[in-house]
Amino acid sequence: MTRQAPPRVLTVAGSDSGGGAGIQADLKTMLALGVHGMSVVTAVTAQNSLGVQGAWELPVEAVRAQYRSVVDDIGVQAVKTGMLASAELVEAVADLLADTDAPVVVDPVGVSKHGDSLLAASALESVRRKLLPTATVATPNLDEVVQLTGVRVESETDLRRAADALLDLGPRWALIKGGHLAGDAVDLLTDGTAAHWLRAPRHDNRHTHGTGCTLASAVAAELAKGRDVPGAVSAAKAYVTGAIAAGFALGGGIGPVDHAW
Ligand code: PLP
Repeated sequence: MTRQAPPRVLTVAGSDSGGGAGIQADLKTMLALGVHGMSVVTAVTAQNSLGVQGAWELPVEAVRAQYRSVVDDIGVQAVKTGMLASAELVEAVADLLADTDAPVVVDPVGVSKHGDSLLAASALESVRRKLLPTATVATPNLDEVVQLTGVRVESETDLRRAADALLDLGPRWALIKGGHLAGDAVDLLTDGTAAHWLRAPRHDNRHTHGTGCTLASAVAAELAKGRDVPGAVSAAKAYVTGAIAAGFALGGGIGPVDHAW
């Protein structure tokens, strides 16, 4: 008898040739969490454990065509967006997502851990105005939240203010990743009414390349399986915490989290 298909999840993101972040991290996460992963590639990076050596955007038509191929035939139960590179691509992807009924997880990728820019400064306004309103959950880290809202976060009270400022831009839920604050790794998930604080002990492991992509993909995978947003985020956080603990050295720089822990 033919097996029934698992939930289908689409990542719209950039390729990391080193296999630690981007599309590659997204698809590995989806495999580990039991969903069928699909990809719309927006940009290709030449990248390794030392950083990003080059980046090339795909033409808008190529991005649109990939999306249509997937959605019109296979269908999606959740979508995740990552590196979108330019204002033109952000606008095109936001237009495509405006029509979907599936939950959308927007990881507003700005700059890599090595400091390489993955989004043109000129695209920020399009992220604010067009992309964030399509999001069921937006998952910025502290640097991204300052860029998007102007709120600098140095305490848990600031985290709350930043989340409110982000919600004003239109996502239904804000998940602010406070991993760079001192003490335990603490994230705040809120829809403006409920506030869920997610704490995890800090791991003494520098091999964390791909953490943000992995978390956002895990949230999308869990939403596709039918969990509600707080349930999906809590399951995703548990998965990424394990993946960080199992992160390994690779090349001469920062190694990846392990998706198969
Ligand atoms: N490369 C690509 C294609 C990405 O999408 C991202 C993050 O979203 C990164 C690199 C950066 O990963 P990290 O900051 O975990 O090193």
